Amino acid sequence: MRPFAYSRPTDANSAVQALSAAASANSPVADAAIQALAGGTTLLDLMKLDVMRPSALVDINPLSDVWSAVNLDGGNLKLGALARMSDVAAHADIQKNYPVVADALKLAASPQIRNMASLGGNVLQRTRCTYFRDVSYENCNKRNPGSGCAAMDGFNRTHAVLGTSGQCIATYPGDFAQALIALNATVEIIGKSSARTVSFAELHRAPGNSPQIETTLMPGELISSFSIQGRWPRSTYFKVRDRQSYEFALSSAAIALEVQDGTIRDARIALGGVATVPWRARKAEGLLKGEKFDDALASQVAEAAFEDAVGSKHNAFKIALGKRVVARALHQAAAMEI
Ligand SMILES: Cc1cc2nc3c(=O)[nH]c(=O)nc-3n(C[C@H](O)[C@H](O)[C@H](O)COP(=O)(O)OP(=O)(O)OC[C@H]3O[C@@H](n4cnc5c(N)ncnc54)[C@H](O)[C@@H]3O)c2cc1C
Ligand code: SF4
Repeated sequence: MRPFAYSRPTDANSAVQALSAAASANSPVADAAIQALAGGTTLLDLMKLDVMRPSALVDINPLSDVWSAVNLDGGNLKLGALARMSDVAAHADIQKNYPVVADALKLAASPQIRNMASLGGNVLQRTRCTYFRDVSYENCNKRNPGSGCAAMDGFNRTHAVLGTSGQCIATYPGDFAQALIALNATVEIIGKSSARTVSFAELHRAPGNSPQIETTLMPGELISSFSIQGRWPRSTYFKVRDRQSYEFALSSAAIALEVQDGTIRDARIALGGVATVPWRARKAEGLLKGEKFDDALASQVAEAAFEDAVGSKHNAFKIALGKRVVARALHQAAAMEI
């Protein structure tokens, strides 16, 4: 691990000032020389692996007093970026009104990691592609732009089948992001001179020709909170992985339904473990609206969700698996007693 400077500002203004000190508008946020430190469960791992090499860390945990709040006022939900995964997963009102949020957090990582890890750090976690995380591999367009992609001709069993490009097929690994994108969440962001709110769907960038640029955050900016309008009691997160605990998704689905008199009025589907970014399956959702739920409809929706999927040498199984995950998650949501 390389030496780095450490600071611990006590207010948001000082934190963004400290983060902006060496910020260059042209460099990807993940490569910035100064990084925010929340739970550290991703950042410190990547520093130890020499994948990330910041020269300074700005510890934002003193902002927790304000930024770890969970607020359900007025029928909407606001989650502070420094709220811990375990606290939000265990929150009784979230379990009741937003089960997809509680489930996605509860099924992630381990209890110890969930106790440390923040929501903001969770959505910004980086891919688990082995070639990205092992610097002995030269060819990684995400870590080393223009160097090629070792995964394309290498072992790509856990890689993405949706949203890939000729430059990168790395999977977005998080779970919580699928709940956020399904529920049309927004992200509140503060920078040195202004604050802004963006749709969560605009936070992550598909790899395209520049896989090293993973988000639309600007250097020096911090996520302060996430907001969700309305309540979604009929919602669920279903995750399939190689082992039942402490493992990333091979395939997962976040589902939210609004049903009136047996007819689906609104439907949301997001896919995890199979795409390069948090993935909303909008066309598949459209097939549910105005319909009554049954087996045939679930299969049709699942087919549509993976219509554009393209497998690589070792991961084509994710297409068949993903369809089953979507159908199973839809059944789970449709059967919920509200
Ligand atoms: C063994 C293991 C298994 C795991 N399994 C899963 C899993 O199954 N599902 C899953 O979803 N996750 C999983 N994770 C990932 C884990 O959930 C993340 O490491 C964690 O959520 C990151 O949060 P953090 O607060 O520790 O982030 P940090 O490591 O502190 O930060 C991560 C990144 O986000 C930036 N950052 C942090 N907060 C902010 C902010 N407010 N604004 C702007 N930038 C910010 C940091 O600068 C850094 O670049 C696993 C991790 C490990 C180590
Ligand atoms: S899939 Fe992406 S992250 Fe993995 S080696 Fe290829 S370019 Fe790098």
